[in-house]
Amino acid sequence: MASFTLQGIPVSRGIAIGRAHLLRPAALDVQHYLVAQEQVEAEVLRLQDAIAQVHRELQAIWADLPQDAPTELGAFLDVHALILSDPMVSEAPLDIIRTRHYNAEWALVSQVDELSAQFDEIEDDYLRERKADIQQVAERVLKVLTGSANAVPRSDGIDERSANMIVVARDISPADMMQFRDDAFSGFVTDEGGQNSHTAIVSRSLGIPAVVGMGNASRLIEQDDWLIIDSDAGVVIVAPTTQVLEQYRERQSQLLRQKKKLSKLKKTPAITQDGVEITLLANIELPEDTAHAMDAGASGVGLFRSEFLFMERSGHEHKLPTEDEQFAAYKAAVTGMKGRPVTIRTLDVGADKPLDASEHQILNPALGLRAIRYCLSEPQLFMTQLRAILRASAFGPVKMLIPMLAHSMEIEQSLTLIAQAKAELSAEGIAFDAAIPVGAMIEIPAAALALPMFVKKLDFLSIGTNDLIQYTLAIDRADHEVAHLYDDLHPAILQLMQMIVSTADKAEIPVSICGGMAGDIRLTRLLIAMGYRELSMPAALLPEIKQAVLNTTLENLQAPLKKILRSFDPLQIREHLAAMEQAG
Ligand code: PEP
Ligand code: MG
Repeated sequence: MASFTLQGIPVSRGIAIGRAHLLRPAALDVQHYLVAQEQVEAEVLRLQDAIAQVHRELQAIWADLPQDAPTELGAFLDVHALILSDPMVSEAPLDIIRTRHYNAEWALVSQVDELSAQFDEIEDDYLRERKADIQQVAERVLKVLTGSANAVPRSDGIDERSANMIVVARDISPADMMQFRDDAFSGFVTDEGGQNSHTAIVSRSLGIPAVVGMGNASRLIEQDDWLIIDSDAGVVIVAPTTQVLEQYRERQSQLLRQKKKLSKLKKTPAITQDGVEITLLANIELPEDTAHAMDAGASGVGLFRSEFLFMERSGHEHKLPTEDEQFAAYKAAVTGMKGRPVTIRTLDVGADKPLDASEHQILNPALGLRAIRYCLSEPQLFMTQLRAILRASAFGPVKMLIPMLAHSMEIEQSLTLIAQAKAELSAEGIAFDAAIPVGAMIEIPAAALALPMFVKKLDFLSIGTNDLIQYTLAIDRADHEVAHLYDDLHPAILQLMQMIVSTADKAEIPVSICGGMAGDIRLTRLLIAMGYRELSMPAALLPEIKQAVLNTTLENLQAPLKKILRSFDPLQIREHLAAMEQAG
């Protein structure tokens, strides 16, 4: 097969080399994970049992057919029984489990996909229609499987196979992404998604090379193709030549050496050459991420995206995590950070992080009932979370962060509910930090422009640049078709960023950045020159940002900063930014 190269949007760093594992479109709701070697036969058995059960079900339906049932109905059941007995359906998926270690649902769906594609080629209309029968049979088996989906324990950790696998998909739902965390795939390639879609965020926080917004990669790449992801360049090389492969292997080891060197800075405080300390914090999605944060030398957690606790809950008794479940997770994060502050953001669902699939039907989810708007419309759910966060604050320094605030009454209502949660806990004699700082995410332009509305009522601010850019530029952060317009150096964004830090400084309210700009090394000097002293980012990016801080003399940046802020010409802005890099 001839080698070819595909271009997309880079969302994380590094190089991955491995074989392609094509994922079925996220729309089909099955779990995708790898089973450990020793569990493969149990997984095979699980699928065999499910197939046998569907056989029994079909027979039972046959036996119960009323006398006057149309003959087609019987024939239809016969066709389904025949399909189910066909080795292409009943045996090929077993081979997939054995060779690729896919879970039973994934193996079945992959095989059905392959068969469906073959049926699409058939000229005969009648036969082509049989594709629907195969899918219906598969759905029956899936139904049985998902009833026992968690009977077989998942692979628990890095497995040699997954380490060499690159997931290729049209898109990966945040929920699937959370599953992939545990399987340690070496890279992700998706047709859809943008720089700051939530799937991109997770791959960045895992430090895994990924390229999104590739257009039609999942159609051009075939199962088991060799792939190289050069995520810095946003490039995927399919079926590379031996020579190219060698070059990339060399670059990969170079990067690894560099990473090792940077890890020596773990305990060094991030202080500029002229003595200004910058606090570098980590963003996390789950409590176990605190281990990476500590490893990277983070001074705390600047953003715990709590919504990931609410996703991927198949196998749990309740659809939403209970107060105790949440409390355990928040407490684990707090104790994991060993006395360093943990900023827990209240639930930010909606837009590209739907709580359930039905949300996909919402006309304009990014402008809809998202984040705090959703929480205020579900006070019981919000109260459960507030109580859990407050309870965790008894175990170490916790800050509470409210996403997507824009209106004064949203601030008031949130503070009232927090006070109510505190009163409840006090009445119950449960410990919490009565002085827990409460902050606002500044991520809607209205909030940035009306900052005085926030500074009097809240203890701190944190800028969500991903959404601030999305809403200021009217660019869907997850839509690859407009990704080229998603520009963090747009003069409007720079003006807003400068305005926020100036207003916050005057009001003497701490302000940090927890969106993507904080972890973008091209912008580190610019942001600290503007006056930002706290940056929160994926742990994997923290060491190189620290190195940039250590090599910076703030005093030298003031002249280029003035030029950047005075310019409304994108090219000029970039030139001044380059000058800032030279200035040191
Ligand atoms: C942001 O919007 O920049 C942010 C940090 O929040 P999220 O990416 O989770 O929306
Ligand atoms: Mg946001």
